[in-house]
Amino acid sequence: MTVLSVLPDELRVWQAPLRDEFPIIAANPGLAYLDSAATAQKPQAVLDAVQTYLTTGNANAGRGTYPWANRTTALIEHARDRLRAFLGDPEPDRSGVHFVSGTTEGLRAIARDWLAGVLRDGDEIIVPFADHAANTEPWQEAVRLLAGRGVRVHIRSMPYDPAHDYDNARLAAMITERTRFIATTHVHHVYGGDMNVSRIRAVAGPDVVICLDAAQGVGHLPLSVAELDVDFVVFSGHKAMALPGTGAVWARNRRGPRFEPAGWSGTPNTAGIVSLTAALDWLERAGVDRIERWTVALGARLTDGLRRLPAYEVLGCQRSLAADSVVQQRHGIVTFRHRRIGSNDLGFILAAEGFMVRADGHCQAEQGEETASVRVSVHVYNTVEEIDRLLELLERLDAEA
Ligand code: PLP
Repeated sequence: MTVLSVLPDELRVWQAPLRDEFPIIAANPGLAYLDSAATAQKPQAVLDAVQTYLTTGNANAGRGTYPWANRTTALIEHARDRLRAFLGDPEPDRSGVHFVSGTTEGLRAIARDWLAGVLRDGDEIIVPFADHAANTEPWQEAVRLLAGRGVRVHIRSMPYDPAHDYDNARLAAMITERTRFIATTHVHHVYGGDMNVSRIRAVAGPDVVICLDAAQGVGHLPLSVAELDVDFVVFSGHKAMALPGTGAVWARNRRGPRFEPAGWSGTPNTAGIVSLTAALDWLERAGVDRIERWTVALGARLTDGLRRLPAYEVLGCQRSLAADSVVQQRHGIVTFRHRRIGSNDLGFILAAEGFMVRADGHCQAEQGEETASVRVSVHVYNTVEEIDRLLELLERLDAEA
């Protein structure tokens, strides 16, 4: 067993009461929710914040002259400041925070309303084609749009090493004076690796715009925009314990024109934005650094267990498993296949035993896995016992199949 998979008592004592704060988890002790990379469960504090808002001051924002409307406007401004603080924004007076329905919409807005306006004939962009399709298709659409106007932009494919980490040596060789933009990911949604984004800035130099898809990062590990030195951060609120239909684009606005989503976007998702503030408050109170230690340990425990069972193949992120590698560390996402049972069948078998996992191709873009796999993704409410029960079942399937 690796160092990472042993959980100190101090962390167990911290985690137990936090788990009780999730009503859906507490109400279903026989079920194990292991699909947090798809969407996270919500703590009572988030549900209460929405209930309080809707029952004491629900109104539209930026339109009325009466107290509920003014308060709603103030809550939305507060949510912007809250997110800036959460991300460690070093220049909050310059940056912009734009609420969107999720990562997909946020990335598309950057591609359509910002990138397509700044690229020139002969420019190059680098896109991660083994990451989520939400972080490749918008950039391809922008390039197609420009091609229609006679502007040729070259898309280069982000290079990967065999562990599915970005290959920074090959990336360095790819950067030219025409490289304008790099799309990256904070934590890989299939392999669980921290993609070590701060190295990309070192390789790319100071002038290239870096856009971070933090869908699997926010709430899972500390995220400092100053440390990572990125220009855009995009994430989905629903994966960070807020309501569905929420998300944000944080734009640093220091390279090129300010990012402003085009067109009139209408009434904001006020209750959702309130839930996002409450979720960020909750995550900070719980301690994102401890959430990271907890979920990394659960992921390592599952990975170690699977590696002792010959029927299973764990995907990606292999070299980090021997110890706490600083090169790349698997977060709470473990994806695997059974060598004889199909992944979709395995998903049904696990569901019948109360384990909620995802079994498919995980929306990976065109350089993704060719066949389906089973993904287990954990959050702070998951326990060592759930992982051990899952491993017992997988061990039985290892022997039987
Ligand atoms: N990017 C990554 C890395 C993801 O994991 C996901 C969702 O799983 C997305 C983008 C898309 O998020 P959403 O469906 O909330 O827009």
